[in-house]
Amino acid sequence: MKSRPVVAIDGPAGSGKTSVARAVAKALSVQYLDTGAMYRAVAWKVLSEGKSPKDGLASSQAARSSKIRVRPSVVTVDGVDVTEEIRGEDVTEAASAVAANPEVRAELLARQRRWARYRNGCVMEGRDIATVVLPNADLKVFLDADPEVRARRRAGESSSEPSGVQARMSQRDSIDSSREHAPLRRTEDSLQIDTSNLSVEEVTRKILSKLGKTGIRAHRKGGKGGIRRFNRQFAPSRFGERGTAWGILLHWTVRTIIKVVAVTYLRMRRRNVERVPRKGALIIVPGGHRSNLDTPLVGAAVPRRMYYMAKDSLFKTSFWARLITLVGGFPTQRDRVDVNALKYARKVLGRGDALVIFAEGERKSGPRIQPLFGGTVWLSEKTGAPILPVGVGGTEKAMPKGVRLPRPHRVRFVFGELIPAMEGSSSRLSAVRRRTQATEDLREIIQRLFDEAQALAGSPNE
Ligand code: C5P
Repeated sequence: MKSRPVVAIDGPAGSGKTSVARAVAKALSVQYLDTGAMYRAVAWKVLSEGKSPKDGLASSQAARSSKIRVRPSVVTVDGVDVTEEIRGEDVTEAASAVAANPEVRAELLARQRRWARYRNGCVMEGRDIATVVLPNADLKVFLDADPEVRARRRAGESSSEPSGVQARMSQRDSIDSSREHAPLRRTEDSLQIDTSNLSVEEVTRKILSKLGKTGIRAHRKGGKGGIRRFNRQFAPSRFGERGTAWGILLHWTVRTIIKVVAVTYLRMRRRNVERVPRKGALIIVPGGHRSNLDTPLVGAAVPRRMYYMAKDSLFKTSFWARLITLVGGFPTQRDRVDVNALKYARKVLGRGDALVIFAEGERKSGPRIQPLFGGTVWLSEKTGAPILPVGVGGTEKAMPKGVRLPRPHRVRFVFGELIPAMEGSSSRLSAVRRRTQATEDLREIIQRLFDEAQALAGSPNE
């Protein structure tokens, strides 16, 4: 999947944030979030309970307990449509007051980050997006405009007089900019645009043209030449990342070539491939791991982009290290629990991508699936990602150990049913026991799929 940019837009009321954020999001084909609507929703809730927005306890309870949904055209609180009400003068005033409460901010911050984490790129607008919520955004934008222009824009949205609007707005501006927690502030690296005399289209164009230079390609700006770019790609901090356009292009090119060879030369066929969820976090566990063909063939057989744990010895020469990193591999030590590898794995699953784990460890041989690495079930439990077991048959015949080129032997994939993530357990001991049992159950499932795939690969009629 193409990696899309994350854009943070901040600015005071009437600076044009919402219209611009919507237009930028549309142009980039990403979703957008109006965080101001979330603060307004909390304020509405506090007022609807007859409480004061200055009442810290009432505000923080309202933030924690309400189910707030902010869509581009509808905002609901606990299922009640409040789209219109939250734009009223009373809620607007109350929003600034509840937004000064650190507990309300902490709650909404967590929700905003979670929202962004599960998206491939986004546009988020508010007051503290670049400074607090998404400090690593690909592009930070700060919009501002003349106070008079801003007041006129806001007055145009309501029936109030511009002079009255300006007075109330400047009072809210001063609360928002001088509050102790996450005040409205411009970061040094943000693109500042004065929108006083610009149309929404003009501002949007400026942002998009800046993104052309620093957006999707921001990851690459560290070097001039191709090699420097590759070096950046190979930095450990990049392991498990979605990667640059280079990686994505290489991934799909390599995958297509392997698929053509696999389908023609190895007559690769797949059973139940429709069981592969196309979106969302997923742990793919192929078995058995009998050949060096397994990793590239899994890459060709599963119809979505994947990330892999690869044995760290493959990362010893820089050529292979770079290549493997580009197509989504990250190093793991096979003979012990590798904390870093688990960290990269959680990063991949946490943002809703697919991870492949050869849970038998290093390549084995023979018809029996060996005991599995317990980390698979643990990762699924911790991240909530379901497990997809897959039987891989025929690869040992096509390319056994010690053979350098594959022979034209049939290869079959059989996809199993999705196994939902195990719920966490209250006691430590029972959690360990349940994980051990779940790992053994998984081994049995994979054994059955492996047997089926081997039979299909060996059967002349399939
Ligand atoms: O943007 P909007 O005017 O809808 O925001 C309403 C209020 O919510 C703002 O005056 C500000 O106090 C608060 N807010 C905030 N941080 C954000 C977004 C909004 O404090 N990220």
